[in-house]
Amino acid sequence: MKVIANWKMNLPTPDIRSWTENFYSNVNLDDSKTIGVAPPFTHISNCVTYLQNLRVGAQNISSRDLGNNTGEISASIAKDSGASFVILGHSEVRENLDEQSSLINKKIAIAIEKNLSPVVCFGESRESYENGITKDFVCSQLKECFEGIKAETIIIAYEPIWSIGTGITPETNEINEIHNTIKDYCKNHLKFVPESVLYGGSVTDKNCKNLITGENIDGFLVGGASLDGNSFARIVNNCF
Ligand code: PEP
Repeated sequence: MKVIANWKMNLPTPDIRSWTENFYSNVNLDDSKTIGVAPPFTHISNCVTYLQNLRVGAQNISSRDLGNNTGEISASIAKDSGASFVILGHSEVRENLDEQSSLINKKIAIAIEKNLSPVVCFGESRESYENGITKDFVCSQLKECFEGIKAETIIIAYEPIWSIGTGITPETNEINEIHNTIKDYCKNHLKFVPESVLYGGSVTDKNCKNLITGENIDGFLVGGASLDGNSFARIVNNCF
């Protein structure tokens, strides 16, 4: 079971202290729980110091290694700062930076090469959902992004774009079915078994108890509800 916080471009440094106090005074942690936090790049090393027993990750990396790539952060630099995983293919990056599957494919490859566990996001638009083509859409994203990739440490996050930050989620059985399709597709067509398939999109401390009843739902990637240490602690407590 895994729960990962995606802080996006939030939480300026002074707030990390209060997040940490709120989180640790409310959370029940044990060895069966793998909890990760992906802060903005500049806070990674600070988070490694403050967030005991949590994994710290990056929200993106460059598709290239060290060199003349102004403004980019390589897998090696993220790892040096203390990151142990990286979120790739988030729909906000795909949209804001016009990131295509071929680029995500290169980023997955370099993350694996540098021992940074990839957490790769997939998900359909509202239009695709309404047209009933979610499974086909997600499988074609999987095919493009994982072409030629072989690894055992890949985490997949199914994040319907229309659910991110909207307060609306698919039904638990719908998510469960998509996760089942993702697992089958990876095993039968891409020849790897993902370490976990997480769900992301408007997860809260209220709805996570129900969502986790889906047998193929292995955990969550949490945006908005992870920004408050109390609320993230309740999510961690409620889904184990
Ligand atoms: C996300 O963007 O990864 C996400 C899951 O956001 P939220 O929880 O705010 O919907």
